[in-house]
Amino acid sequence: MRFPSVFVSHGAPTLAVEDNPASRFLRAFGAELGRPRAILVVSAHWDTVVPTVSTAPRLETIHDFGGFDPALYAIRYEPPGAVETATRAQSLLQEAGFAVRADPVRGIDHGGWVPLSLMYPAADIPVLQLSVQSRLAAGHHFRLGQALRPLRDAGVLILASGSLTHNLREAFRAIPGAPTPTWVTEFGEWVARTLAEQRIDDVLDYERLGPHARQNHPTVEHFVPLLVALGAGTPDALPRRVHASTTLGVLAMDAYAFD
Ligand code: ZN
Repeated sequence: MRFPSVFVSHGAPTLAVEDNPASRFLRAFGAELGRPRAILVVSAHWDTVVPTVSTAPRLETIHDFGGFDPALYAIRYEPPGAVETATRAQSLLQEAGFAVRADPVRGIDHGGWVPLSLMYPAADIPVLQLSVQSRLAAGHHFRLGQALRPLRDAGVLILASGSLTHNLREAFRAIPGAPTPTWVTEFGEWVARTLAEQRIDDVLDYERLGPHARQNHPTVEHFVPLLVALGAGTPDALPRRVHASTTLGVLAMDAYAFD
């Protein structure tokens, strides 16, 4: 069975324990996608110099955040590792010319377990993570996705986890209930339109062409997972915007599927 590659926005870690449009979407989305053989998570919260895959036989929960509700630190999401898929992913990346490393101890960070605990709460599907390289260009992440595309035919779900917009400083000072500012909505709609028109080169040039790109992404690590998912999509297949909402005033929680 072939799975789409998907991009989801994980927002703040509290999403795991909240009932809002984004958490309800993720719960339904896991059921809609069905059960993959393994899940390759591309997480904004693992940023390395060289692309790295996790090869641990079981992934321990990493609580990589501070100052949140104690209930979040009690959450354990500890799926089996996807060791075979990790080996295949390394080969595919090497064949495409990437240097790649394996990390045998890395667990699963909240970029992985926040969406997965909603999508696949039983934690019984093997998981591996792949890091992002925020110091490298948008095109690098698109090519990572292209190299990994064959995994989809092997029943692997490529789950890229970031945030469609991600200005945390603005999120923490947003007034509850205030309308979403136009600098957020204009960027989100630009991404939607550019993907719908399949202007891939423009998406990859988002820092220059996307309205208010820098304000929405003061750092790039939460946007580049989208580019990995895009690269893993089948060329000419129309991207699907499968969710759109906003949380904490300025965090766009959009999700996309690339068939
Ligand atoms: Zn995050």
